[in-house]
Amino acid sequence: MDLMEPVESLKGVGPKTAEILRKFGIKTVKDFLYNLPRDYENYQAPTSINEMRPGKVVIKGQISDLTTRRAKRRNLSITEGIISDSTGAVKVVWFNQGYRVRQFAPEKEYFFTGNYELKNGRYSLISPSAAEVSQVDLRAGLAPVYVAHGGLRSNDFRRLVAGVRDRFSEIPDLLPSVRSGVRREALYYVHFPNSLKSAQGARDYLAYEELFELILAAKLNRRENDKLQAFKIPFKLEKIKRFLNRLPFELTGAQKRAAWEIFQDMEKTEPMNRLLQGDVGSGKTMVAAMSAYEVASNGYQIALLAPTAVLATQHYDSLVKMLTSLGVRVALLTGATKKKTDLKTQIKQGKIDLVIGTHALLTDDTEFKQLGLVIIDEQHRFGVEQRQKLMLKSPTGLAPHLLAMTATPIPRSLQLTVFGDLDVSVLNEMPKGRQPIKTRILREIEMREQLYPRIIDTIEAGNQVYWICKAIDDDPRTETTSVKSRYAKLQKLFPKARVEFLHGRMKPAEKDTIMEKFTQGEVQILVSTTVVEVGVDVPNATLMIIENAESYGLAQLHQLRGRVGRGKVASSCYLLTSGEMQPSRRLIELEKSCDGFHLAEVDLKLRGPGEIYGALQHGALDLRIATFSDTHLIHRAQRDVEKFLQNPENMIKYQELMAGITKYQQITTLN
Ligand code: ADP
Ligand code: MG
Repeated sequence: MDLMEPVESLKGVGPKTAEILRKFGIKTVKDFLYNLPRDYENYQAPTSINEMRPGKVVIKGQISDLTTRRAKRRNLSITEGIISDSTGAVKVVWFNQGYRVRQFAPEKEYFFTGNYELKNGRYSLISPSAAEVSQVDLRAGLAPVYVAHGGLRSNDFRRLVAGVRDRFSEIPDLLPSVRSGVRREALYYVHFPNSLKSAQGARDYLAYEELFELILAAKLNRRENDKLQAFKIPFKLEKIKRFLNRLPFELTGAQKRAAWEIFQDMEKTEPMNRLLQGDVGSGKTMVAAMSAYEVASNGYQIALLAPTAVLATQHYDSLVKMLTSLGVRVALLTGATKKKTDLKTQIKQGKIDLVIGTHALLTDDTEFKQLGLVIIDEQHRFGVEQRQKLMLKSPTGLAPHLLAMTATPIPRSLQLTVFGDLDVSVLNEMPKGRQPIKTRILREIEMREQLYPRIIDTIEAGNQVYWICKAIDDDPRTETTSVKSRYAKLQKLFPKARVEFLHGRMKPAEKDTIMEKFTQGEVQILVSTTVVEVGVDVPNATLMIIENAESYGLAQLHQLRGRVGRGKVASSCYLLTSGEMQPSRRLIELEKSCDGFHLAEVDLKLRGPGEIYGALQHGALDLRIATFSDTHLIHRAQRDVEKFLQNPENMIKYQELMAGITKYQQITTLN
């Protein structure tokens, strides 16, 4: 059995079936075999009909008197029959499954699995699944249940797998192991288990296989990275002292540790590949500034990439303040920058040390003289290709060091697997004097009483308010209040306050003006879309209101909330919900905790990693079988990958494995 053959090569798969399978991503024999059962039906001990009790039952019998009719209510068909065994008979009912009338042969025996319950005054077996007894391996009495695809039902998958049952012995090994044939046994027992235990054992092996592939891909990426050459950036103690002496505050212990790790990495000739993760407000930008200063002091250039123009501008403002007087030449390059060509020429000639920008930085005509360090803020916002574009911008043939920053922490299990034991610096300590943000879920109807007085207090105390809305304009189809109508309402409600709005469709210059006014404290209430989500830093803002909070993800809400709580005054955040429904688990978790690391773990459980870290490679991160919570299996796979890599011949010997992991390599790279 050649695993790479198209599914058509399987017995019983014609062009039509193949078409349906392909639509669901099952293209090859391998895909087909790895389409694992979602569950098992247990036929080991069917109940006699005279002993059935209400609830889920499995019975074994013949079926007769099948009829189907339309119910009075339209669009409903009812199929009924009688199932009998040697102890009695029971009525069976299916709804909208007309094909059942033709499915059964009266002389054959079937297993039926369904609910035995009271319906219209009579106990019946309701909508059971059915399997022909002669098709079920009676020794085991377990039948796999497959997810239906298109017109293909679980039974069809059973039939197709059964068709190749005697060919599993031809399946080659995928990974080295102490004993040959482990994989083929696992695949066999996952489809044809002889006990639930053997099915679980088989799944465990296949989960291990999956983790092995993922970790191997990540480690190979890392090797590629280590082969590259980078500029060596010798640590300049005097310079850094000068930088620190001018700061109005002391660095946190975590900031010092992170900076030190970065300086050490950059002294090496292979490029740094480090993720700086720290909750919103933990002071990542400061660490970035020190790293940039260190590189500029050695005569190399730095590029800082930010996901939005608002954020790039803000970084520019704060970095200019910190670095210009130290002799660093800083420039901003966004879509709105005037005289781009002149600026680009200066960058190319090395007359600019630090360029801060958005996607505009990635265009082909942005070239550097010698790019020593790339800093990417909110790295998960950029796709692999975009990040790579920036890494290739040094004409010297030397790769820049990479510092990626994120406020969406990556749980340890993912760091080890997907990101290949990535180098991580963690800012797990907030600057002194920060107070936790009080968070409350509030229904919109309670707003007038509970929220408006808080707004007035905040403004009177000289602090500022963010009000986040979902949409820019009103949409008659939804009841969501838009930025524009909320803005109008707030202006009327708080005539003494200066209210402004901000959203992504405004011209960059307009946005900058508003942001500048808000930063200067001239605006008291800023009504905005999520453009302020990432990174915006106005310590004087102490009240955050998020309307339609239920429509955002956990990480995003945490990010938004992080716009307040940046100064010395205690801040609060209100999560407004519109409906009558109970608040979701997300909102409740957020109300309980301000700890981004904890929330990231919760989020991983609630949504799976693809949603969180793979926005741009959606789904690719979602494991088929393994779970990221299985640390035991992760560690085992990791150890075995190490062993595998110690023998270079393995990469030639295990062709199928090497070919299969290229898809993972794309997603497990940071740079
Ligand atoms: P992040 O990017 O991690 O969300 P920032 O770098 O924007 O956080 O820092 C948040 C705020 O805290 C900024 O106003 C910054 O000046 C300030 N800050 C950074 N480090 C310290 C520190 N060690 N002590 C006091 N304030 C700090
Ligand atoms: Mg930031």
